[in-house]
Amino acid sequence: MKKIYLASPHMSDEKYEEKFVKEAFDTNWLSTVGENLNKFEESVRNYLGIKASVGLSSGTSAMHLGLKALGVSKNDIVFVSDLTFSASVNPIIYENATPVFIDSDYETWNMDPKALEKAFEKYPNPKAVIVVHLYGRVSNMDEICKICREHNVPILEDSAEGLGSKYKEKFLGTFGKCSALSFNGNKIITTTGGGMLVSDDEDLVSKVKFWSTQSKDPARYYQHSEIGYNYRMSNVLAGIGRGQMMVLENRVAKKREIFDTYKKAFKDIEDIEITDEKEYERSNRWLSTITLKKNSKVKPLDIIESLEKENIEARMVWKPMHMQPIFEKYDFITLQDEVSVGEDLFTRGVCLPSDTKMTNEDLERVINIVRKLF
Ligand SMILES: *Cc1c(COP(=O)(O)O)cnc(C)c1O
Repeated sequence: MKKIYLASPHMSDEKYEEKFVKEAFDTNWLSTVGENLNKFEESVRNYLGIKASVGLSSGTSAMHLGLKALGVSKNDIVFVSDLTFSASVNPIIYENATPVFIDSDYETWNMDPKALEKAFEKYPNPKAVIVVHLYGRVSNMDEICKICREHNVPILEDSAEGLGSKYKEKFLGTFGKCSALSFNGNKIITTTGGGMLVSDDEDLVSKVKFWSTQSKDPARYYQHSEIGYNYRMSNVLAGIGRGQMMVLENRVAKKREIFDTYKKAFKDIEDIEITDEKEYERSNRWLSTITLKKNSKVKPLDIIESLEKENIEARMVWKPMHMQPIFEKYDFITLQDEVSVGEDLFTRGVCLPSDTKMTNEDLERVINIVRKLF
């Protein structure tokens, strides 16, 4: 039986990626400088409408240097979305700073602006706020930006899952002081592994580029006045990214089509809830997610296991950060005491196969298996 994936690499039919990779070989630009890097960074800038970009080895390294660029260091407090992947939080720890987790709202699944306000009452002086756009759903940016502006705290957007999504016609990744993108193999486009930091602040991005290439002072010998990192993207992998940018909008369209197909197919099943897009939102629908009503006899694991038996990959919703053994000692701010929206979504949610290589028959296979459970 053909395996169906949650989200896997999907190269262009035209093989643009191979052509650009071959160019790197043909011209011997096989390091962390070259035309592919320049052109890949440029295409992301043009797509998002942003001034500066630097290709890095992963989304995690982009998060790390983004935080450093915002001046986060030892003992600083950083607010971060609770319902996310651990790579949103690990870089805070790399810098010996302290995360404070902010709960989600049901509308967006992302950071609840009201919980954020509550966090500011308890901790008036965080160094930065990390806003994650989970599964490509857009956070409530008007509210979140307003609150952060009032408190004069910069935002680092974790747009690893949100490339191609828009809030009020403006791309995610263009709201924060800087924003991290990921091109890991499971993301909407991939370089097999890679990331990028983008910002309208050109000095900030130059600084990140400097750190990412070992912080070499301008001198004839290797001289260092700051700690360096080996985080730059390879020109070979940038060739893959350059080709992938040419099909990004196709991937968004397909992801959205997958979501719409699920929505239609499960419309008559009472126990399945699917959150619609907000009027201000264009989600890239990186992963299609559903939740099951509290009293549903069918549980997330029933769906995941039934699909698994048929060689189909599905997954639970990301386990919130405040529930992670490594992070449970940090504070967690919820709107109502003792009630965590993120935990509830985790308990009731399922990420359905959202691979853009799926055919209509593949989608039908998934839908039939799920429907049979109800
Ligand atoms: C994938 C991901 C990252 C990390 O990106 P990598 O390129 O895998 O390092 C960070 N945050 C979120 C929300 C992600 O999904």
